[in-house]
Amino acid sequence: MLLIGSHVSFKSNDQLAGSVKEAISYGSNCFMFYTGAPQNTRRCEISYDLTLEARNLLYDNNIDLKNIVIHAPYIINLANNSKKESYEFAIEFLKEEINRASMFGVDKLVLHPGSYVSLDIDTGINNIINALNEILTPNQEVKICLETMAGKGSEIAFDLHHLKRIIDGVKYNDKLMVCLDTCHLNDAGYDMTKFDDFLDEFDNIIGIDKVACVHVNDSKNVLGAKKDRHENLGYGTIGFDALINVIYNKRLENIPKILETPYVSTIEGGKDRSYAPYKFEIESIKNKTFNDNLYNDIRNYYNNID
Ligand code: ZN
Ligand code: FE
Ligand code: FE
Repeated sequence: MLLIGSHVSFKSNDQLAGSVKEAISYGSNCFMFYTGAPQNTRRCEISYDLTLEARNLLYDNNIDLKNIVIHAPYIINLANNSKKESYEFAIEFLKEEINRASMFGVDKLVLHPGSYVSLDIDTGINNIINALNEILTPNQEVKICLETMAGKGSEIAFDLHHLKRIIDGVKYNDKLMVCLDTCHLNDAGYDMTKFDDFLDEFDNIIGIDKVACVHVNDSKNVLGAKKDRHENLGYGTIGFDALINVIYNKRLENIPKILETPYVSTIEGGKDRSYAPYKFEIESIKNKTFNDNLYNDIRNYYNNID
């Protein structure tokens, strides 16, 4: 079955119930959310009632909790221990994030492995391993899904061998999975237009059974640019057909495909507005037809409903 969805918001007033409603409005059967703002670590208390409401909505809409993904905030950096307090904070925060995920019943937590900043790459990789060895416990249900990164700045995990080294160094590595991001992979130098070759390579190095989810994004930059700027499907350098091949690849069937493509912005009456593209991108994925009028369709649709 095609599992397609997007990143959705999580707001303190309606929490997971709001996220589920947003996902349903896009025609999704899977989705990803941050448990608060992606760029900070302030987190609200999880409401039992709203979580129950969310579970009922999921049930009524045939969405399996197994296909919901949480993304850890991207400021969490396990690779850099030059400031002891921040490194320890990141470790404690991730332990709590694992607890939050299990309170929602979500078992996939996507994590950017980290950036080595002023250290070097081997030290950075070792810091990630040590942190994960402190965080992971043998009986947890939640899997940490290490994301493939673009290699921007000092980011680790732009090379599959980095992920392999991390997995090999971690004691409870059955709790580790991988999240593939097509924009990041392109920017790291992996050609997404030859996706089956990429999957062969991934299978050789890491093992295809480790893929937990896929972030499907086009890229604003060329192969190997080491940039990380997402683009709407078919509007970037990877292209619509290549991304359709990723989404419908038989070897990744039953794995959630999550869009993190950019919002479409406009200025209306002097006000900046931006709209989620996901309803329209998901439609074009389902019909396997590129929408060359995406931006206008989105603006027209959202102008008419508010
Ligand atoms: Zn990510
Ligand atoms: Fe991603
Ligand atoms: Fe990205």
